[in-house]
Amino acid sequence: MLSVHACPLAKLGGLDSGGMNVYVRELSRELASRGIEVDVFTRWRESGDERIQELAPGARVVHIESGPIRYIPKTEVFARLGEFTAELERHVAAEGRAYDLIHSHYWLSAAVARRLAPKWRVPTIQMFHTLGLVKREAMTEEADAESDERIDIERQAVRESDALVAASEIEASELMQLYAADPEHICVLPCGVDTDLFRPVRQVDAREALGRDQCERLVLFVGRIEQIKGIDVLLDAMGELFRRRPDLRHEVCLVVVGGALDARDDAPETEKVLELRRLVHEHRMEDNVDFIGSVDQQRLALWYDAADVCAVPSLTESFGLVALESMASGTPVVATRVGGLQTVVAHGESGLLVPAGDHVALAEALERVLTDHRLRMHLAHGARSRAERYTWSRVGDGIEALYDRVLAERGAEV
Ligand code: UDP
Repeated sequence: MLSVHACPLAKLGGLDSGGMNVYVRELSRELASRGIEVDVFTRWRESGDERIQELAPGARVVHIESGPIRYIPKTEVFARLGEFTAELERHVAAEGRAYDLIHSHYWLSAAVARRLAPKWRVPTIQMFHTLGLVKREAMTEEADAESDERIDIERQAVRESDALVAASEIEASELMQLYAADPEHICVLPCGVDTDLFRPVRQVDAREALGRDQCERLVLFVGRIEQIKGIDVLLDAMGELFRRRPDLRHEVCLVVVGGALDARDDAPETEKVLELRRLVHEHRMEDNVDFIGSVDQQRLALWYDAADVCAVPSLTESFGLVALESMASGTPVVATRVGGLQTVVAHGESGLLVPAGDHVALAEALERVLTDHRLRMHLAHGARSRAERYTWSRVGDGIEALYDRVLAERGAEV
């Protein structure tokens, strides 16, 4: 498993750590439990990590040194991929291991897979998690403009990989339309959720555990603090909500989970938080918005249970684990009608869908869910039952079958 910039052991919700780290972690554990041995190769980023750490019996994380052992921006990770690959090869040679297959995550790993696969003579399976061309269409902030190199690498990986995993039918059609992927090579496999960890718990108990007011109405946002997550739109929507319904100003609170609030952590994200705080000030919402930084998934589960509604206002989203985790907790979702979110959230059944970037529509939907008790109960029930379909064991079944197919095809060629 190649996951150059997403370590499965990483602290989640900070800069560049989120759904992909969870996916690699859960899939590796799932495969190992089926007797498929997994080594995850990732860039060494945390000085407290050991070079090799066990994820589960049969699944290891191997940290590869390339560049300083700390956070570095993706451009620098990219510039050091040659070094990463050489170090990885040295490690594999020293251990004397051989692999049957490469499963690569994100475009940075695709560049490494491309160098290793011909040397090792093994098939490659690629999952992008987000696609550069899709992101480019959705973004306006210059700093996040996706590089031409990224798009080139994605195009090559689409052409050369033995199979592509897409998290939704929407991603599959993006691969076909934007990257000319062969439909025969695409396996559509939605992500999973741990329904034991994310489960409905009484709201009063969750609020008590978190020390929150029992009377407030709580809107929850969870995710990396980046423009792509639509957090600016959500703050404008909250401002709009309070303009239409001034009475709600005394009751409704938005809790923002995620992001590095400590400047020593991830400086660029802190800047974004400062920008958002200015937006909060513009809308006079200082008493209504709390930024609490990132939390681990055990604590996050309590936040989903404490919330009345979870807002997922992303500008683009290949899948949207946060929406699924909220649903598993029995908390309705108000999400944008983009990417995988349209397949995860069933409009009127487990949440409401609104157009991306439309703060007025988002405000209306939030108002409906917050003020219509019957609707909220209906969506809460639908949310949990829909989430139960998405298990990691189902993901494991799909990936195991894909490995078998790809290896059989390779065997037939030789
Ligand atoms: N997450 C977390 N703590 C945080 C913020 C996020 O554990 O403070 C996790 C969350 O549970 C989810 C993942 O990060 O599993 C975010 O995944 P999603 O697919 O929603 O977004 P991505 O990061 O892939 O864009």
